[in-house]
Amino acid sequence: MKRKRKLVFFLQRIKWRWLSKEEGCIICWGRTGVLKKTPMDKRIHYVRGCGQVCNSCWSEDYDDF
Ligand SMILES: [Zn+2]
Repeated sequence: MKRKRKLVFFLQRIKWRWLSKEEGCIICWGRTGVLKKTPMDKRIHYVRGCGQVCNSCWSEDYDDF
């Protein structure tokens, strides 16, 4: 049962990513505030070859980037 609930939660997050106009964070899956139509070179906190990272993940993990 626990496993199934975890899977549902996972699928909901994927669904959010697909339906949202906003790009999801590749680390925490949270909101980034960056629209999907934003060109790559105009995005903030965008990791080339990886994807969009949110504000908090960026400051936590990508200080040395
Ligand atoms: Zn994040």
